Amino acid sequence: MSWHPFTTTPETFWPKIDKSGGPEACWPWTGSQDGRGYGITKLHCKTIRSHRLAYIFAGGEFPEGRHCVCHRCDNRLCCNPAHLFPGSYKDNALDMVAKRRHLSFTCPERINRGEAHRWAKFTEDDIRAIWQRLQDGERPAAIGISSQLACDLKAGRCWRHVTGLRKTATNDPTQCWDHVDGNGNLTPLGTAWAGRK
Ligand SMILES: [Zn+2]
Repeated sequence: MSWHPFTTTPETFWPKIDKSGGPEACWPWTGSQDGRGYGITKLHCKTIRSHRLAYIFAGGEFPEGRHCVCHRCDNRLCCNPAHLFPGSYKDNALDMVAKRRHLSFTCPERINRGEAHRWAKFTEDDIRAIWQRLQDGERPAAIGISSQLACDLKAGRCWRHVTGLRKTATNDPTQCWDHVDGNGNLTPLGTAWAGRK
C-alpha cells in the first residue's frame, strides 16, 4: 500500500523518540506537542498522541473496554511501550481526578489563584472525567465538585459540547484508534474513522 504524505510509519516514528536513557528509562518524544504537553503526530491526516501510537506500533492490544493508553510513569512525552498500558476511560478519569487532588496538596497556590474562576479552569478532559463519574452514579461531593455544576452539566447548561463528545468518544468504536495495525495500516473500521471530518 502507498503511504499518504501526512501519515506516520514505524520507520519515521521511532527515530523521533529519545531512547538514550536505555530500556528502563522514559523515552521522550522529540517532535510536536499539544497544549497539554503530550507528544503528537499525524496518522492518516489525523492528529494522534505519540504515546498512543508508540503503544500501537509496539503491538499493544486494547482489551474490551480499555481504549485509553495510560502512562505508568506520568511523563506525558514518554513513548516507552514498557511504561504504557491500556486503561478504560474510567481509569483515566479516576487517575486524573486523583492527580487534581494531589495538586491541591503540592501546589495550593495554583488552586487558590484560580478560585474566582474555578470552573473556567477545568479543561475539557477534566469535564469528561467528571461527567463519567456522574454517569456512574457518584455524588458531586465525592467527586469534589459543587452540586450546582453537577446540575448544570446534567441539564446541559454548560459544557454541553464536552458531555456530548464523551458519548461518541466512548460509545462509537470507530472513534478509537485501536483500528490501526502494528504497521500503521488502517483496518476497515479505522478507515471509516479516518474518512470522517
Ligand atoms: Zn516513561
